[in-house]
Amino acid sequence: MNRQIIHIGFDDTDSIRKGCTTYIAAILVEKLQKLNVNFIDYPNLIRLNPNVPWKTRGNGALCIRIQYNENVEEEIKETTISTVEENADLEFKGTDPGIVFFKGIRIPKEVKNFARNTITGIVSLKEALKLLKKFGAEAVGFKKDRGIIGGLAAVGETLSGDYTYEILAYRVPENYGSKRKVDSASIFEMDKATAPYTFNNVDQEKRRVIITPRGPDPILFGIRGETAEIVKKAFDMVKPLEPVERWVIFRTNQGTDAHLKGVEKLNEIKPYHPVVAKGTVATNPNIIPRRHVIFSIKDESAQVDCAAYEPTGGLRHVAMKLLVGDYIEVYGGVRAPSAKNPLTINLEKIRLLKLAPKIVYKNPVCVKCGKRLKSMGKNKGFRCEKCGSRYANIGKVEVKMKREVKRGLYITSTRSQRHLTKPFRRYGMEKRGKTIVKLIEGWHFP
Ligand SMILES: [Zn+2]
Repeated sequence: MNRQIIHIGFDDTDSIRKGCTTYIAAILVEKLQKLNVNFIDYPNLIRLNPNVPWKTRGNGALCIRIQYNENVEEEIKETTISTVEENADLEFKGTDPGIVFFKGIRIPKEVKNFARNTITGIVSLKEALKLLKKFGAEAVGFKKDRGIIGGLAAVGETLSGDYTYEILAYRVPENYGSKRKVDSASIFEMDKATAPYTFNNVDQEKRRVIITPRGPDPILFGIRGETAEIVKKAFDMVKPLEPVERWVIFRTNQGTDAHLKGVEKLNEIKPYHPVVAKGTVATNPNIIPRRHVIFSIKDESAQVDCAAYEPTGGLRHVAMKLLVGDYIEVYGGVRAPSAKNPLTINLEKIRLLKLAPKIVYKNPVCVKCGKRLKSMGKNKGFRCEKCGSRYANIGKVEVKMKREVKRGLYITSTRSQRHLTKPFRRYGMEKRGKTIVKLIEGWHFP
């Protein structure tokens, strides 16, 4: 029997009120294995640009890569289409599912580049359709077909650079919408036992569990980590207090900073394109209502506003202590200018590269008795309150103060991190070089 390879990408099936595209992948895994396929990779969960204004916060697309017998090809496609159709929130305005069927083992470079652009910027449906045509791939779109973009991007992102894993456990439908019941002590213990090879389990600032999402979606919890083995081990340590319907291990670009793209100059920063940029602090931080902190940076090409919002936690405290003249690197999404605000980088990270001296001007001290002098008014000199000496022709003196921040990298609080944000725990764990994926025994249930 002739064995073939197909990459099945899909996206945009969920809405704020219902569903999750990863859940469709989990159901598909169960259905496809009955067709005697070989999974050549874990299902890939590809997070796309989180700053696309019309997408939900998660913005995750899926790809399933399998080897199959030619005679079940039609059944694979039909199963995929009906599973998406049955589980997508098709009545919701703005949910426009798309599926891409891409055959062959090799993913062309142009499709890989398309994926990169979908993760770091904005692409059009037209570009996706052009590539599908060029490479003879098939696509199925629902309503406005927008999900085809993410579907193709998920096919094209083969995770050959840095990547991580996530094990996702799903609830039984009866429990959708109710409060998630998982033993939180077991999560703190799991975090301790598996650190640093799992990440974003708990928010250390608030001592809060963050592996359980909120909202009506079917996910009970998700554990992120460096290997399939470690997320499986972590999963076994967590005690759910409600039934788990199914679970699957995904390979993903989460926690890799894949969305951030460096620019040479500040005038290259574009709305909706997450960025890494360097500049000199040009205005002192200003605290605006709701405790957000705004400052600007500049280089020879432009000056740009940066914002550290309240939920960024410790990052906001660092932003507050910046001074004009500090040389820093900023990481974050870019908000388009509005009538009220200029183009703004919403900070995810700051790296303090060079700190400007903090200078304060003080009255001089009395040369006779060492007491700090009193000013007698602007340009009227100083007087010593202790010995009565007067000093006419001297000014204030510069005093260098200790800075309250140190050089180094600062990252937004765990609770406000994007799916793609690389957390501290992952620094030094980045995967490079050739990726050979070997699926572990028991990577999904059922
Ligand atoms: Zn004196």
